[in-house]
Amino acid sequence: MRLVNNCPICDSEKLKRLKQHIFRNQNIINYLSMLQSMSNESLMSKNEFKFYINHCQKCGFIFLNPRFSEEDYKIIFKTEVINKNIDVERYFIRAIRGYKLISKYFKHKLPYKPKILDYGGVSGYLLNPFLKNYDCYLMDYKKYALPKGIRYLGRNTDDLNGKIKFNIIFSIRVLEHVNDPKKVIKDLILNLNQNGIIYVQVPLGCLNEWKSIATPFRHINFFSEESIYNLFKVSDLKIIHLKTAFQLSKEAPGWKLDIIGIKTLKNKEKKKIKYKSTNQQRKRIFYYIPLIFRKKTLNPQNIKKKFKNILKKLKILN
Ligand SMILES: [Zn+2]
Repeated sequence: MRLVNNCPICDSEKLKRLKQHIFRNQNIINYLSMLQSMSNESLMSKNEFKFYINHCQKCGFIFLNPRFSEEDYKIIFKTEVINKNIDVERYFIRAIRGYKLISKYFKHKLPYKPKILDYGGVSGYLLNPFLKNYDCYLMDYKKYALPKGIRYLGRNTDDLNGKIKFNIIFSIRVLEHVNDPKKVIKDLILNLNQNGIIYVQVPLGCLNEWKSIATPFRHINFFSEESIYNLFKVSDLKIIHLKTAFQLSKEAPGWKLDIIGIKTLKNKEKKKIKYKSTNQQRKRIFYYIPLIFRKKTLNPQNIKKKFKNILKKLKILN
């Protein structure tokens, strides 16, 4: 673990400290001390561990500092083999949404099945709509029992050797967890065909997620349109789609960012993609409206229950 003085995306030293988080939970401390032995800085004092939230003034990236190292991640995310399928139906809407978005931008006349990689794809549920017409590949720290037709390629980009070049790579809700998002994107691009597309989805973390974090092991990057745009730009991708949208889901409803880029030598953008700055997005009152109804309230079961309670109160139902 290491406290960094430069932005992990654009390398700028102009970092503003937005907040300080102090962890006192014994389990967290024990875990962190295990990792801390690998760093030469002392971040722990009197049984508490300090983390900072930094905001890069150049590219708009908000992130947790200190950063974990690859060695730390080997401890945090042990590779497990999990012999169970995840319920595909549960993620059906999410899978179709990704499929539609990719199909909009990837139109091909290839004489073979295009190759598609889901980076951080858990049990492969997002690849489900692609199974018929694509060659499907998946990477994840955990190895699940995958549906027939999906090939497991390893834990992370270090396991890719450039032998297989993909036409499409997507990574949904992964980059908010990784210590070096720029390295992940650059490594993925090395395994992408010329004119191939890369699609990334992350939560709109810049809004308020960084304000209260229960553990330093979950999300460590808090993106905005500006910072995800800059991440794609420094990776030499031509950006063709960028959008902030609210997504209803049982597990994690909230604002998400979708970005798609092409690997191309012609880097001139016909139509320049506009983005909102981190500060603009942080201060948009509008984004807070659906959050009031978030989580439990938005769960259909709970809505049903609430509705029943109201009817009971009104004595319509007994
Ligand atoms: Zn930066």
